[in-house]
Amino acid sequence: MKNIRYYACPSSVKDALALLNSRKYKAMALAGGTLVAKTLPDTVETYLDLKALPIKGIKLQGGNLVIGAGATFDEIDRSKVCRAWAGGIVAKAAAACSSQLVRNMATIGGNIARPHSFNIFPVVLLGLDAKVRAVSGKGSELLSLPELYAASPRLRPGANCLITEVVFPAAASKWKCEFVKLAKTDSSWESYITLFLAAEKRGGRVSKARVAVGALSPRPFLAAEAEKAILGAAGAGPAAFSAELEAVRAGEYRAAAGAALLGRFIASL
Ligand SMILES: Cc1cc2nc3c(=O)[nH]c(=O)nc-3n(C[C@H](O)[C@H](O)[C@H](O)COP(=O)(O)OP(=O)(O)OC[C@H]3O[C@@H](n4cnc5c(N)ncnc54)[C@H](O)[C@@H]3O)c2cc1C
Repeated sequence: MKNIRYYACPSSVKDALALLNSRKYKAMALAGGTLVAKTLPDTVETYLDLKALPIKGIKLQGGNLVIGAGATFDEIDRSKVCRAWAGGIVAKAAAACSSQLVRNMATIGGNIARPHSFNIFPVVLLGLDAKVRAVSGKGSELLSLPELYAASPRLRPGANCLITEVVFPAAASKWKCEFVKLAKTDSSWESYITLFLAAEKRGGRVSKARVAVGALSPRPFLAAEAEKAILGAAGAGPAAFSAELEAVRAGEYRAAAGAALLGRFIASL
């Protein structure tokens, strides 16, 4: 923070992007400031506050759940729209953030802008096939989270582009979902393993399965073998998941815990 010379609080995305892409101001975006305040590079000279941008709304659009990047965890947790969509899973995940103090400040945009092992929303977005709207000097793009992360360094959220909204697709609103942050305490940011589990049943059979895994690497991943196994032989999902976690060296405890949590989810379908 010691080299900060300017403070800017633009009220339009266009003005914010102009500042971000100006060589003169060397700006970096801050939303809630909970993460970046500790990690602001010394090269940054302008603190670009996103608070006044019109990117905070939460709405339903043709069945899609659209959350503005500036919405805080607390706003998402308390939103009636979020509490009603897909059994309220997005609100429940927001409520799992470590403390009320952080939930009041931290935004969904800041949570997904950079890969981070313990952040909640990357796992949720991956599990629900959500898309992220990234706006840069070259226009607006709707990308999945893996596409957003793969687009670096062309797109570096907060440095040369802004995330304006997250779109959760209408199709996912019918899935049965569960979010699990297996941590020492509810107020821990760190977790042993974070899981987003989802499934859809048709004609008594599971026709769609999602197993998204966080906390083991900065970028969450989908457990493809477990997903395949859930659709096949009854009861094969947990064993396949355990083997998949062992293969990524998650450690025996996590493999056993992950398999047990998945088994419980399947039994609840
Ligand atoms: C004590 C503590 C506990 C925490 N507990 C948890 C927890 O339980 N779960 C969890 O998931 N996280 C947790 N966090 C991490 C952090 O609070 C979250 O990642 C938070 O969502 C970051 O959001 P922010 O709005 O504060 O982002 P900021 O800190 O303002 O910014 C973070 C990064 O995102 C970029 N950015 C922010 N908004 C945008 C945007 N709209 N477009 C482009 N780039 C943007 C910034 O440039 C910066 O690089 C914790 C942090 C602390 C300090």
